[in-house]
Amino acid sequence: MKKVVQSIHRAWSWFLDALFPPKCIICKQEGAWLCPQHRKFSPAPPNEASFEYLENIHAAVKYYDPTTEKLVELFKFRGFTQLADIMAEEIILRVGKDFFMNSILVPIPLHWTRKFWRGFNQADLIAQALQKRIPEAQIQHLLKRHKRTFQQAKLSREARLQNIRDAFSFSSPFGKSEGKSALGGQGDLNPSNSPFQGERNKNLPLFESERSSPQSRGPSPSLLKREGRYILIDDVVASGATLNAAAKVLKQCGVSRVDAVVFARGGK
Ligand SMILES: [Zn+2]
Repeated sequence: MKKVVQSIHRAWSWFLDALFPPKCIICKQEGAWLCPQHRKFSPAPPNEASFEYLENIHAAVKYYDPTTEKLVELFKFRGFTQLADIMAEEIILRVGKDFFMNSILVPIPLHWTRKFWRGFNQADLIAQALQKRIPEAQIQHLLKRHKRTFQQAKLSREARLQNIRDAFSFSSPFGKSEGKSALGGQGDLNPSNSPFQGERNKNLPLFESERSSPQSRGPSPSLLKREGRYILIDDVVASGATLNAAAKVLKQCGVSRVDAVVFARGGK
């Protein structure tokens, strides 16, 4: 089924390219979304912040740069989803392919209402574009955004932190059908059993080695590997509060290290 969907998607992209050949988003020259002259990004400023749950945020390019701002705007708000390919290529160029070897890419989810109106999750598309180029990495949708948050960029740092705190929870990648047998109809963990509502619930198996335990309450957290290379994926980072809140969920499920990779870094 997945292959059929991918084939349809490829055919549709081919059709769109034939109908609307890519043009440089800056000078309109035909042939590519960014012509060689305009495919120039400024390197991302170094990450100077430290985070409670997140190891590091690796960013490819600087956000406050005319080309990057335009690219992100067209991608996110105007539906130019093919631009995810450029973002993935820039990420690989600057972060390095090796960093992703045998990693688990975890796209930062949108709240379902925002995804509904936008029609896609930009972090998902970047993760897919990365995975297409790095087959040694896999994508797992382990997070759910259960709290609707406001546009982060428009808020002060304090307001942002308050806004994003506890916005995420663990989401079973098995989906609803698998979750049903183990979790009584819940695709996601039952909040009362959730290991990340405060301290970890010691009765829940969190690692593969514990899966055979007869007390196993469900498959979801046991999927996580303590030493797995979990990499959160997003398009733009400002303060890092969102990524840190997402990392918190994985950490509370027992993962020992969580990194993040984004296309662009805002801030100074
Ligand atoms: Zn151009």
